[in-house]
Amino acid sequence: MIDFRKAQELVLQQARSFGTEAVPLEQALGRVLAETIRADRDYPPFDRASMDGYAVRYNDLEKGVRQFTIVETLLAGYAPQRAIESGECYKIMTGAAVPAGADLIIRRENAEEQGGHMLLAERPAEALPAATLPAPADPRFPWRPFQNIARRGEDLLSGDIVIDRPCLCEPPVIGLLATLGHITVKVARPPVVGLLTTGDEVVPAGGAVSPVQIRNSNRWLLEAALKKAGAGPGVWGHAPDDPGLLRRRIGEMQGCDVLILCGGVSAGDADYVPGVLEALGVQKLFHKVAMRPGKPVWCGVTKEGKMVFALPGNPFSCLVNMILLIRPYLQACYGLPVAEPLGLAMGTARKKRSPLDEFFPVHCQGSPARVTPVTLNGSGDIRLGRQANALALHPAGADDLAEGEIVACYPFL
Ligand code: AMP
Ligand code: MG
Repeated sequence: MIDFRKAQELVLQQARSFGTEAVPLEQALGRVLAETIRADRDYPPFDRASMDGYAVRYNDLEKGVRQFTIVETLLAGYAPQRAIESGECYKIMTGAAVPAGADLIIRRENAEEQGGHMLLAERPAEALPAATLPAPADPRFPWRPFQNIARRGEDLLSGDIVIDRPCLCEPPVIGLLATLGHITVKVARPPVVGLLTTGDEVVPAGGAVSPVQIRNSNRWLLEAALKKAGAGPGVWGHAPDDPGLLRRRIGEMQGCDVLILCGGVSAGDADYVPGVLEALGVQKLFHKVAMRPGKPVWCGVTKEGKMVFALPGNPFSCLVNMILLIRPYLQACYGLPVAEPLGLAMGTARKKRSPLDEFFPVHCQGSPARVTPVTLNGSGDIRLGRQANALALHPAGADDLAEGEIVACYPFL
């Protein structure tokens, strides 16, 4: 039996692109950008006032000028009427373009205004913008050229590459794309996922349920997880534990790029899924992974190169396989680096229960973060969804975990 890392490796070898598509920026959140993005102009695009104050000529300060005539007030978005001469200044606001000729901004707090003039304060309250800058050699002459001005092009020059690899469109990326004028973007096309739940006892969540039946929660769990992993829209179906009907339902999902089945992969009398998949010519990559829960998982690949994930039916087993195998597979298909687990400290001790790699649901919070196991009575316990926000790994071969010990945590999707 292989371990989960080997299983991940085998799955990741099958990763492939599903092409790209153009979407309006308002639909890009959570999608994976699939184009190189360059700066369309210099950034900042103009010498930009980074403080409210007065734009003057540095040379005037060197010459000893300490009083200036205010010729104009420059608000952000406005261009000046005329250039300043020696002894003149603009009153200027943060974000406004600093006109050529002016090359220094005196902060408002360091000046006084009297009858259309600006007088430099005798002792500048705070002459330097950043605490990290060295103190001026002469405290009575604390000015430097271009102080309080963000220079045109100091961040990026026109044509510079800004994004050169696939990246998840998080809010700051969306903001960046808007800054650069991209209101339509090329993103990775998600695979069309076919999800087939199985089981005679499993009935739709919204309908009547007899005492021996259970509601189909995995359809919802997996759909939500897939949505968060940026996959969909999908095709959903359910098959009873009947090899013929299973075959037919799987056949109906021919058009999908990826197939996920749920239930029927263990060693029970009604577990027909692996046999049916193999009979359909799906080539097995592995059956069973040395981990708990989720061990009976079966993975294979069709002749067309489509991945088939057949997950055990317990909700926790489903989730573990989703996080360990399906999510990394999708990330790799989109060209994203596969997310690494976070190493976090246990908030309590934990007993080892099985000799295999053991995943347990945890709640991570605090600073520094502490990992608290969430009570769960085995993989069939429905209380999984109450508090947990990550999976943690109690490795095979490890002893009991001590409080403070670092464990690998896989945040939920
Ligand atoms: P199986 O993997 O088919 O042996 O199922 C393992 C357990 O998961 C059984 O208790 C099933 O009733 C349950 N189960 C299977 N499919 C689902 C589903 N779609 N939603 C909720 N529970 C399920
Ligand atoms: Mg079943």
